[in-house]
Amino acid sequence: MPSVGRADGKTFEKKKASISVVCPKCQGSVFDNRSKKLSGEFKPNAPDFACANKEGCGWKQWPPKVGATTVVSGGPIVPPSTTQSAPSPRDTLILELFWDSFDRVLEGVAKRKLTDLFRPEQLCSLIATMYIQRARG
Ligand SMILES: [Zn+2]
Repeated sequence: MPSVGRADGKTFEKKKASISVVCPKCQGSVFDNRSKKLSGEFKPNAPDFACANKEGCGWKQWPPKVGATTVVSGGPIVPPSTTQSAPSPRDTLILELFWDSFDRVLEGVAKRKLTDLFRPEQLCSLIATMYIQRARG
């Protein structure tokens, strides 16, 4: 009994994998216009690739637009060094120490009813003195 037939008739499945420029729509041949764009024969805004089947397919491929990706990021450009983005524990401690000193000086002066005796710059001097002493540890 002869065999029914080879089932591996895959010749039609052969794809032109070696050819990089094949129309993704119709699998047909594609014109590579890049050299012509460089030479000036085609306009700079012409597609890089165009399907040979203009009427039946009409596929075209333009190069990726320059600057299209920059539209996405709307914020300011962040420098690569992000070491100072988050406050360090020491910075937080110093801030807390300063404002604690600030409050304590004003509270102490008010508690002793000496608010009228001190001018703002003198209070600043008191706060600075207390803060510096405490910051030294
Ligand atoms: Zn095509």
